[in-house]
Amino acid sequence: MNPDLEKLVRLHHTETDLKRVQTELGEVPRLRQEIDERLARDRARLDAARTALEASQKARKQNETAVQDLETKRSKYKGQLMEVKTNKEYTAVLHEIEGVERDIKAREDVILEEMEKAEALALEVRNEEADFKAVEADAKKEKAALDARAAALGAEAQRLGAERDAVAASVPEDLLAVYARVAKQRGTGVAEARDGMCQACHVRMRLQIWVEVKKNEQVFQCESCSRIYFYEPPPPTVVVEP
Ligand SMILES: [Zn+2]
Repeated sequence: MNPDLEKLVRLHHTETDLKRVQTELGEVPRLRQEIDERLARDRARLDAARTALEASQKARKQNETAVQDLETKRSKYKGQLMEVKTNKEYTAVLHEIEGVERDIKAREDVILEEMEKAEALALEVRNEEADFKAVEADAKKEKAALDARAAALGAEAQRLGAERDAVAASVPEDLLAVYARVAKQRGTGVAEARDGMCQACHVRMRLQIWVEVKKNEQVFQCESCSRIYFYEPPPPTVVVEP
């Protein structure tokens, strides 16, 4: 192959590899964010379970305090029962006592409910804690792997960038200018010529051009997309003797 053409093909491959590596490297922050988001979602579930448990415990405590106050009130009324003078007063105090006892009963029901609820919530908190711990450990591992991958990709990008610069510097300036112009316009500067066709834009070339292109000696540009042709001869057929 014409050595300049060969360099252009190498330049093309190096640039393609570099782009792929840079694209992968560019995805790293998004992947890192995904890990953080997953962790935050799990953390929020754990926090919600803890908050619900605390609310239930608080409700229980409030009702327990209220029951204590009501019991004090009941004792006070019971003391009053001894001191009343009339039947009417007696009935009125008795009525108060009944009211207080109904209130105590209702609050004791709530306390029982909250106790059952808290038991279930405590289990949920324990499960969420275990879950979060596992997710956190996974996230740490994934992030370490991601960091290692980013470092490897960064080094690879640097190597490819240096290789690209070195190859580009070895190509004659005017040819490199043509290549760069087409690459900027089309995304790639070279195209494989196969079966008489440009493999990038799929336009058929004139027969005499195809004959010349196959020699890989001169530089030809596709008449349609302007990419510089290169030709990869088919691998030689090896005849295996029986
Ligand atoms: Zn073309």
